[in-house]
Amino acid sequence: RAGGAVDRVCVYDEATFASADNNLALMTEMIDALGRNEISLHYQPKMQTADGQVTSVEALCRWHHPIRGFVPPDLFIPIAEQTGQIRALTEWSILRAIQDQIRLRASGHDVTIALNISGRLLADDAFKDKVIQFASAVDADLCLEITETAVIDNPDKARSAIAAFRAVGLKISIDDYGSGLSSLAYLKLLNADELKIDRSLVTELADSQRDRLIMKSTIDLAHSLGMSVVAEGVETEAIVACLSLLGCDVIQGYWLSRPLPLVALATFLDEHAAT
Ligand code: C2E
Ligand code: CA
Ligand code: CA
Ligand code: CA
Repeated sequence: RAGGAVDRVCVYDEATFASADNNLALMTEMIDALGRNEISLHYQPKMQTADGQVTSVEALCRWHHPIRGFVPPDLFIPIAEQTGQIRALTEWSILRAIQDQIRLRASGHDVTIALNISGRLLADDAFKDKVIQFASAVDADLCLEITETAVIDNPDKARSAIAAFRAVGLKISIDDYGSGLSSLAYLKLLNADELKIDRSLVTELADSQRDRLIMKSTIDLAHSLGMSVVAEGVETEAIVACLSLLGCDVIQGYWLSRPLPLVALATFLDEHAAT
């Protein structure tokens, strides 16, 4: 029946069509974005609660699209993961971070650079070999923040990739801890240097005794496993006070600084060291 197709088409509303269409366009445009220099890294400082020192920064991707303007990573990272572009993007990020670290050292700033690594890349041997090659070629001081639950799909590969990364001196962080259901399984599986607690457990810390209890036992658990603890999404002085009291090692969030382009980061580090 001629009308059948039309009826079925009507099941989808215009917004769904528009967004599927949009995703397809974004996928195509992502392929060229790196080559066209539209992607850059910004860096967000992380501060030690004990002495106020900034000893590391997290690299976060930014896509400045010539027509669409700023495309947020929450939108294009999942697309890059679907299309396989995530590997090229991540390898580019690592190389850029290594270059930026050399520039920072030249201006007297010695900071570990943390990079976000999608869990599924841990199962990719070619990716693993390349990262090890990069990291051993130069004296880079990098931390890999492992995100996403896909690592659990291939525990043996994930474990051996992590061991190989640590063997060449890369630090490992478990990212977004507490945001998914599989957090404890992660902790069992991955031998990491750092536990990064998700913003969802941080935001209401000053108002919720329950959240403080969860935070306290998570920090104690991480410490007993030999990991240092970072809280992300720290926006207020009251939360900083709570986290110090609970023994959190490092804080990151708008309270300290937004993610900054490299030049602004160098200025921030200069000013921070002076205070
Ligand atoms: P994430 O790894 O959890 O990174 C922290 C996100 O929280 C960043 O968002 C950061 O800008 C934001 N943020 C930092 N401090 C605060 C705060 O105090 N309050 C609030 N409300 N937000 C804060 P961003 O840059 O939009 O990145 C979103 C996510 O995209 C990241 O979450 C990460 O999972 C992913 N991502 C970003 N860059 C990359 C990349 O190069 N590779 C991969 N695989 N993922 C990336
Ligand atoms: Ca992260
Ligand atoms: Ca997060
Ligand atoms: Ca994350």
